[in-house]
Amino acid sequence: MEACTYKSTRCSDFNVKPSEAIVKGLAHDGGLYIPLDFPVLEKSLDQLVDMDYRELAFHIMRGFLTDFEDEELQNCINNAYDKKFESEEIAPLVKKEGVYFLELFHGPTLAFKDMALSILPHLMKTASKKTNIQEDIVILTATSGDTGKAALEGFADIDGIKIIVFYPENGVSEIQKRQMTTQEGKNTFVIGLEGNFDDAQRGIKEVFADTAYNEKLNGMGYKLSSANSINIGRLVPQIVYYFYSYLKLLRDGEIADGEKINIVVPTGNFGNILSAYYGKKLGLPVNKFICASNDNNVLYDFINTGIYDIEREFKKTISPSMDILISSNLERFLYELSGNDENKLKQFMLKLKKEGKYEISDKMKEGLEDFYGGFIGDEKTHDTIREVYESSKYLMDTHTAVAFAVYKKYKEESGDNTKTIIASTASPFKFTRSVMKSIDEELEKYNDFDLIKKMSKLADLNIPAGIKGLEDRKILHNRRCKKNEIKTAISNILSK
Ligand SMILES: *Cc1c(COP(=O)(O)O)cnc(C)c1O
Repeated sequence: MEACTYKSTRCSDFNVKPSEAIVKGLAHDGGLYIPLDFPVLEKSLDQLVDMDYRELAFHIMRGFLTDFEDEELQNCINNAYDKKFESEEIAPLVKKEGVYFLELFHGPTLAFKDMALSILPHLMKTASKKTNIQEDIVILTATSGDTGKAALEGFADIDGIKIIVFYPENGVSEIQKRQMTTQEGKNTFVIGLEGNFDDAQRGIKEVFADTAYNEKLNGMGYKLSSANSINIGRLVPQIVYYFYSYLKLLRDGEIADGEKINIVVPTGNFGNILSAYYGKKLGLPVNKFICASNDNNVLYDFINTGIYDIEREFKKTISPSMDILISSNLERFLYELSGNDENKLKQFMLKLKKEGKYEISDKMKEGLEDFYGGFIGDEKTHDTIREVYESSKYLMDTHTAVAFAVYKKYKEESGDNTKTIIASTASPFKFTRSVMKSIDEELEKYNDFDLIKKMSKLADLNIPAGIKGLEDRKILHNRRCKKNEIKTAISNILSK
């Protein structure tokens, strides 16, 4: 197998090994790590068809993590995809309403982030040993709600690693907040930021880019890394479930050998849909990637006009994990569109920073052909949840509903009958209030925790272990900070 090395999207010096890319998270110049050459799958889809989730994960991931021994990677996979997942299949596929919902929310924190964040801590610990890192690793994470909890859960009590999570104080659901503030583990720290997700993400990127501050931390025995989807160790595990679902359709005779499918992804930071796109580069037969947004529709505009413009009002919606204007992983996709031109990338990113927007050339726009962009507002999201519940008794969360509604729009416009997978990114139990409100406005008066019980009865579903008894758990974290206090907050924690 050819060794896979990684480079920054913004320059071609300093190529690094997979383990180094994982430990560092972000490249030294602020760019994102990408494989210099994409790996080639050693087996055909035919040969993969009977693998279970763990076998398939091993087969796909080893091409990207070539400096991991087989046994090391296998251990990471076994530690990640185990009984923590309430579904034996890990990522089950459910056929409803003429589409296939790929349920990615059966992990411990009820959102698709578990798919990657249950393995990233193990990859990082292994990578840290391999690269002879002497310092303790500090994971800094900005979260729009789901990443934070999934990262805390994954990294809790992992030796040699501390994790600090910043969440927008008023930008997450009551359940998301409670999930984070009750997190156990003596290496976990949770901070409510007075600002929105973009403020948190920007603040953290600044910390990574501040050389003097990083040197100071090194002196204290710490080294920063990231669990956000800027880390390539997040994207690689996410490729697996797209293959897994395709192979399941093949096994069940729902599609023919080589038949193309559509993939619909409710999108925020562009990480999940990028993993699907990377799947296609590895040979997954995909017709269209359907990128679904809420009213924060920067990606919709980008796909339809080639202009990326963040100078607009930030909107709080009922699909908060997609309330993002700066989609970090778009940088990796842009790199592909530019024909791997790091100089162009540098210019785009500089323009984005200085002017808040950039426009790609007509030639680059051609690369968007495989993508369809759509967006849906809150009202339509509520309607979609209710309609699907009434017709199929299937309860979707708000993010999945955005995806399904955008898909319906696409289908109406295009008449395309290609078989379609909807990435179902959260359990309805995680966004209980908005989901129950869609079914019946009267339910507004109950608190989130009562609504969980009501939802369980209504949909005849067991309350997932991750939130059972959440209201009775002890609050262990109550730190807060202002936008400009992020570094101080980190220093305070680490100097203890
Ligand atoms: C994070 C998240 C998304 C967006 O995924 P990206 O990889 O950031 O595009 C969508 N839905 C849910 C429930 C999420 O937690």
